[in-house]
This record gives sequence, C-alpha cells and structure tokens, in this order.
Amino acid sequence: MTRADPTTNEHERNGRESDAVDAVDAAAVERYAVPPGATAYECPRCGRPFAHERHRDLHLGQSHGDLTDDERDAYAAARDDETDDLRHFRIVSLGLLVLFYFGFLFLFAIFG
Ligand SMILES: [Zn+2]
Repeated sequence: MTRADPTTNEHERNGRESDAVDAVDAAAVERYAVPPGATAYECPRCGRPFAHERHRDLHLGQSHGDLTDDERDAYAAARDDETDDLRHFRIVSLGLLVLFYFGFLFLFAIFG
C-alpha cells in the first residue's frame, strides 16, 4: 500500500476547489450578464446587477447585514412596496378565483 504525499494531495484538492470556484464564477458571470444598453442597478457589496432599484434594495436588506441608514430606509421602503404589491396580487387572484368559480357554477346550473 502506497501513501501519497499530503502536500501533493492538498495542492490537488486546492486546485480542484479552485477549478470549482472558477466554474461557479463563470456561471455567475454568465447568469448575471447585463445586455448592452440595459440599465442595471448593482449591489454595492457583491456587484450583482438588478433590473430595478427596488430589487437591489430588497437584495441588500436580505443578503447583507451591514446596512447604512440610507440603505436601511431604502430596504424598508422597498419591503413596504413589495408587501403592497403582494397584497394587491392576492386580492386580484382571489377575486378572479371567485369569479371563475361562480361563473362556471352558473353555467353549469343554466346549461348543465
Ligand atoms: Zn449583494
């Protein structure tokens, strides 16, 4: 039974980890590529681009803990806007569901 040199194994393992990190970085670069001419709002901490300022503010609040006062205020405003949009979406979805339910119920009662 042969025993491998631990420094070589360590070097090879670091090389494989480095390759894996490079692959992840390349995937992230490709995934977050901004089309030419498009406006992007970049995260000041990690550089990730966002299509809307509100999305960047939400990302800052949820992914990075060390916010400045302005960033914290922007996160709170973005969270409130997002909550309002979700509430609006839920009300509209429930209304459509009720409309379809009773619509089909009446159709079935009349023509069924
Ligand atoms: Zn970030």
